[in-house]
Amino acid sequence: MLIGVLALQGAFREHEYMIRACGDIETRQIRLPGQLEGIDGLIIPGGESTTMGKLMADYGFLDPIRERAGQGLPVFGTCAGLIMLARDINGSNQPRIGLMDMLVERNAFGRQVDSFEDDIEVPCLGAEPFRAVFIRAPYIMKVGAGVEVLAEYGGRIVAAREGRLLAAAFHPELTSDKRMHEYFLNIVKIAS
Ligand code: GLN
Repeated sequence: MLIGVLALQGAFREHEYMIRACGDIETRQIRLPGQLEGIDGLIIPGGESTTMGKLMADYGFLDPIRERAGQGLPVFGTCAGLIMLARDINGSNQPRIGLMDMLVERNAFGRQVDSFEDDIEVPCLGAEPFRAVFIRAPYIMKVGAGVEVLAEYGGRIVAAREGRLLAAAFHPELTSDKRMHEYFLNIVKIAS
């Protein structure tokens, strides 16, 4: 199994470490659209979504990723990666992949609490709470009928899935808890 990690900007190395810690799985840093060839799943990391979206547009990533995802490639976006996956971003027309039927709000947790962590319930990962690290995190304001809500925090949706697309507002790659990545790898395994 080969997992691509978009490496234009942001926290891509941590995702690679995490995926490799999940077992005998190869990772590839994706810096050019041609490198999407042959991957079984793609991770879009956290970072700064306006910068990442601009780079993705400039490097010609948006259509190839939409096309591959349309053919069934599983994609997992965390934080800025979640924003890249969202069809609608409140008050913004910044470039995005836009494949998940949801409306997101950027920097949703306010300035005083730029970064924080807390235990959250993620039922699809089991009964044990998940330590969620939020860094200038977005949240999901609204989801369409085909989107499954995986986690909420303080009444706000912070993780969701639509078919083979998975999105988390927090940073599972910055913890030692592998369950969220394992959940994604399971989607990849079933898809391939
Ligand atoms: N606030 C960032 C954005 O809107 C996301 C932050 C992150 O990925 N940690 O792009």
